[in-house]
Amino acid sequence: MKTAEWQCTACDATNRRLVADGATSATDICVTCHMPHRIEIGERPVRWTSSPLSPLPGGRGGRQREVSVDEA
Ligand SMILES: [Zn+2]
Repeated sequence: MKTAEWQCTACDATNRRLVADGATSATDICVTCHMPHRIEIGERPVRWTSSPLSPLPGGRGGRQREVSVDEA
C-alpha cells in the first residue's frame, strides 16, 4: 500500500488515502467537507491530482435508500 495525498477542491483541506501500490486513480471523500473526489496519480507519486466527483443523475444514490415499509 502507498499513501495518496490530495487537496480538496472545495475547502482546500489536504486528505490522505491508502491505495494499492499499483493504483493510479481512486475515489475519496474529503474528511472536512465530505465532497467526493476522483483522484489520480500526479507527476510526483505522493501528490495526487483531484477533481470533484459530481453525483451521477439516476446513479446510485449514496446512502439514501428508499424505504417502503408502508406498503400494505
Ligand atoms: Zn473539502
